[in-house]
Amino acid sequence: MRRKIVAGNWKMNLTFQEAKELALRLNTWVKANKPTAEVIIAPTHLYLEQLNKDLKNSHITVASQNVSAMENGAYTGDVSAEQLLSIGTKMSIVGHSERRAYHYEQDKYIGKKITHLYELGMSPILCVGEKLEDRDAGKHFDVVQEQVTVALERQKEEDLKNLIVAYEPVWAIGTGKTASPDQAQEMHAFIRKTIGAQHGISIANSTSILYGGSVNPGNARDLFEQYDIDGGLVGGASLKLEDFTTIISANK
Ligand code: PGA
Repeated sequence: MRRKIVAGNWKMNLTFQEAKELALRLNTWVKANKPTAEVIIAPTHLYLEQLNKDLKNSHITVASQNVSAMENGAYTGDVSAEQLLSIGTKMSIVGHSERRAYHYEQDKYIGKKITHLYELGMSPILCVGEKLEDRDAGKHFDVVQEQVTVALERQKEEDLKNLIVAYEPVWAIGTGKTASPDQAQEMHAFIRKTIGAQHGISIANSTSILYGGSVNPGNARDLFEQYDIDGGLVGGASLKLEDFTTIISANK
C-alpha cells in the first residue's frame, strides 16, 4: 500500500552536461530493469527544465531541491512553486537539514512551503532529523516530533494522502556514518505514530517514510528491509550510476 521510493538528492553537484548524461543513463537503466521502487532525482533548479523534457514519459520523477514559501514577487534569488510548475516540476524537497543549517529555515516556514505546494497541486518531500547533540542528550524523538507536527499542522488531510517524509539524522548526512537499521526503524515508526496522532491512522499508513544519511550500496538492503522504512533519500551515492541503481534495486 505504501509507495516504495528511492530519491537522489544531487545537491549543488554536477555540471549541466554531467547531469544530463547521468539522467539519461539512469533512464535507460530504469527502462531496462523496471525496478519496484519509484525513482526520483532532484537536480539543481537550473537543470530542471531540460531534465523535465529529457525524462518526459519516463518512470523517473524530477523534483526540485527547494522552493520558496512565497508567491511570485520581490524575492531576489528565490524560485517559486508557480515557476517550478510552469516548467513541469511537480515535486519539491523541503526542509533539508542543509537549508535549515545554512539558510536558517524553520518548521513554520517549511510548513508554509508545503501548503503552497499543495495549493498548486504539487507535492513535498519533507525532511526531518535530529543533530548529534540532540541524540546525545536523548532529545531526538522530541526534536523530530516537533519538526513533523509543526510542518504538517496547517495541512489539509486530503492533501496529505501519499505524503513523503525523509528521516535524515544530521549526523549521518555526508559523514559515512549511517543510522543502524534498528535506530532508523525506531524513528520511522515514531514518525508514523506522530503523523497518525495528528492526522489519523489512514494518512500515517499511506505516508512513505524514506531514510537518508550515508545510504550506500552496502547498507541499503538492511535499511529497506525494516518495516517502516519505505525507501531512501540518497545524496553522495546518487551521483554514481552504479551505486544509485544498486540502491534502487535493493528496495523491493
Ligand atoms: P548523503 O546525503 O547520502 O550524502 O549522506 C543525504 C541527503 O542529504 O539527502
